[in-house]
Amino acid sequence: MKNLKRLKTLISYSALALFGLVNFNRIALAEEKTELNSNLVVLQYHHVADDTPAVTSIKPDEFIEHLNYLADNQFNIVDLPSALQKIKAGETLADKSVAITFDDGYLNLLDVALPELEKRGWPATIFVNPGLLKKHRSHYLSWQQLKTWQNKKMTIANHGWQHDYWVRQPDDMTANQWQEQIKSSILSTEKAITKQLGSSPKLVAFPYGEYDTWLTDWLSDNNLIGFGQQSGVIASYSDFTALPRFPASGNYTNLKTLAVKLNSKALPIDYKKLPSPLLASQSNPPSVDLHWLTKINNRNQLACYVSSQPNADILHKDQVSKITAQQSLNKGRTRYNCTLPIADGSGRFYWFSQPWLVK
Ligand SMILES: [Zn+2]
Repeated sequence: MKNLKRLKTLISYSALALFGLVNFNRIALAEEKTELNSNLVVLQYHHVADDTPAVTSIKPDEFIEHLNYLADNQFNIVDLPSALQKIKAGETLADKSVAITFDDGYLNLLDVALPELEKRGWPATIFVNPGLLKKHRSHYLSWQQLKTWQNKKMTIANHGWQHDYWVRQPDDMTANQWQEQIKSSILSTEKAITKQLGSSPKLVAFPYGEYDTWLTDWLSDNNLIGFGQQSGVIASYSDFTALPRFPASGNYTNLKTLAVKLNSKALPIDYKKLPSPLLASQSNPPSVDLHWLTKINNRNQLACYVSSQPNADILHKDQVSKITAQQSLNKGRTRYNCTLPIADGSGRFYWFSQPWLVK
């Protein structure tokens, strides 16, 4: 559809160009600019409480500070499913659009988080595990409560049946058996949400943000949108089977650093060409090639950070920049986080993050 629209635009401009009325370079640039302008930042929270594990929690007063910051600085809090629809359809999204998400569907959201959002008339998305909310009623929101909040602008979405590590298979299973089990866990969750709440937005958040290509290929075949926990911003050229979110609680609660993220835009690269996070046979440290979608004059200012390491090496060549950490990555989850100042005097940054998982 979008390609057809582009073809039509191209044909009509070609006619004009024949008469020397239009400069082709300017058309290409203008079109890219529209795309660069539709950006969506998604914030990720878990617990909003004083007495839950610090790494996955934000205190209620800090959460309210975040909401006040968003309001005071004219951010547009958007409904996640409809914002994604717009971006996918190539429609323009207002600048500074932000969606709020909560993983796991903890009961403590009822205390402050959801009422505070309701007070402001703001939507949010809650990713739930149907298998867990049935088993541990004292920890998780019930279907009844989820239904109530669905009627107050909240979207309820898929976090898998229970909270498994999706790309770490148990020793007693083959890779194939494990993959089938995870796929059916995602499908059962879709079914449960549809049965309990009437419909499902078909959004899937990966537990611990871990994923691999077998999963993203399958999501694409099944018309499901996937979310990791790598940081970054969503644009029309994102990979919709592994979208980024900015964690905003635990170590990432600080508003000063969060402000930079909230104001950032998606680095204009081809996200569909990024490698699987899983380090199987690749060398360690791994490399990631960034394929630029547009000419960025100051790309030499790109900087990539690796946790507890010096900055990564960057090799710019033609339309590709190769990022490689200087030292091997430790076991577990790591990211290459890259930023580039946007050269428009706004003080804002392009943001990109590549997640890695060393098993
Ligand atoms: Zn989770």
